[in-house]
Amino acid sequence: MKKKITQQELMEKILGDYTITGKKKKLTKRTVTAKKRTVTAKTPLKKRHVTHPSGPGKSYRKGVSLLELLDDLFPDEQSAREWFEGIRWADGRYCGYCDSENTKRVPNDKPMPYWCSDCKKYFSIKTGTPMHGSPIPLRKWVIAFYLMTTSLKGVSSMKIHRDLNLTQKTAWYMIHRIREALAVHTVMMANGPVEVDETYVGGKNRNKHASKKLKSGRGPVGKTAVVGMKDRQTNRVRAAAIEHADQVTLHAFVNENIEPGTTIYTDDHRGYLGLENHESVKHSVGQYAEGKAHTNGIESFWATLKRGYYGTYHKMSVKHLHRYVAEFAGRHNIRSLDTIEQMVALAVGMVGKRLRYKDLIR
Ligand SMILES: [Zn+2]
Repeated sequence: MKKKITQQELMEKILGDYTITGKKKKLTKRTVTAKKRTVTAKTPLKKRHVTHPSGPGKSYRKGVSLLELLDDLFPDEQSAREWFEGIRWADGRYCGYCDSENTKRVPNDKPMPYWCSDCKKYFSIKTGTPMHGSPIPLRKWVIAFYLMTTSLKGVSSMKIHRDLNLTQKTAWYMIHRIREALAVHTVMMANGPVEVDETYVGGKNRNKHASKKLKSGRGPVGKTAVVGMKDRQTNRVRAAAIEHADQVTLHAFVNENIEPGTTIYTDDHRGYLGLENHESVKHSVGQYAEGKAHTNGIESFWATLKRGYYGTYHKMSVKHLHRYVAEFAGRHNIRSLDTIEQMVALAVGMVGKRLRYKDLIR
């Protein structure tokens, strides 16, 4: 049995601290050239997903056009398979059932591309991942990754259904799996300073049928509370759907995601009172952005989440709200990467963790 590699280690292994040395090569059919670098579907992942020497940043973030994606990087199913294999097995191929490295290639890939000599089973790159047992071609997963990372307001299952020729049910399933992958990139232990705020997502009470109208209660009746945190240093966001925006819940959320001693900025909601190293700004008396004690960063994240709500999804069910929130936070957190790197981050989230499919659908 080999040592388990974490998703974080896998990300570092693939995207790591590689610096550019490559010279511009002659253009070939399966080549995409960028400033100072040449990448092809055959280029080893480490060389393909280069980070600019000046560090990742918006001005250096490299996009991929849909044409480059389909014509050059992923012209066929084989190229998509090699890409997934290069990521999941960056540390060597192992069996999707028992993790053994004692595996063999199967001639003609029949019935599956690989054979495990230990558990005597055939397996493929999909085995033991959320793609396990799914007939959706890997190339369609890649295209869905592309759409999900490049669409800041999210992608509806109707769009995936139409663009990828899948049933809407399959498309819906696919997007939820991708949300799980994005959730992987929302874990943090912030050093701060952090901004913490809460917002409310859900149907407008006035649009509801009279029998469904909620008459009592304080604040935004009929909506679900979401609490979020933004680390000003790393720009990372962590957010969660919560049942009540009360002191116990808010304190637990904050303390679970920060290092002790982190400075916390919030508004004057009473639920934040009593936190350590805490400064607040009084929105209720019209005191905005008083010095450093403001929550503008996390509020701009809420604005993106709400644009997705109104512009793309129109509805986020309470049951799945945490997945939508993870989708937006995850996408926010990987935004400084190049497009292809963001897709790698999704693939790592899908396959890096040795999570059984049955654990995911529980
Ligand atoms: Zn095995």
